[in-house]
Parts: sequence; structure tokens; C-alpha cells
Amino acid sequence: MAVPKRRKSKSAKGHRRSHDALTPINLTICPMCKLSVPTHKVHEECLAEHFKNGAPGRMPF
Ligand SMILES: [Zn+2]
Repeated sequence: MAVPKRRKSKSAKGHRRSHDALTPINLTICPMCKLSVPTHKVHEECLAEHFKNGAPGRMPF
């Protein structure tokens, strides 16, 4: 296995890790069940509920 010849400095390590941070998921309140759900995603349970009720027009989102 290839092994690095020199140890990376604390600075170089920090520079590399400057792109590692994760961003939290955006949450919003589902207009049908009032639960927290990710934005721009169809809430599967409410979609099923919507079609079970005969899909009256558009969903409220
Ligand atoms: Zn929902």
C-alpha cells in the first residue's frame, strides 16, 4: 500500500477539511399532517391519504 512520505501539516489538514462540513436538512411543516418533513419532497403518507380520498383536485402543496 502506498504511504505518504511526509506528514501533512495542521494547516494543510485544516484546508482539506474546510469542505467536509455537512449542512442540516431543511425542514418544513407538512400542510396536511402538520409534521416536520424535508422541503421539496412529497410526503408519502399524505400522498397515499390524498389518493385514498379520491384525489379531489390538487394537493395543498
Ligand atoms: Zn404529511
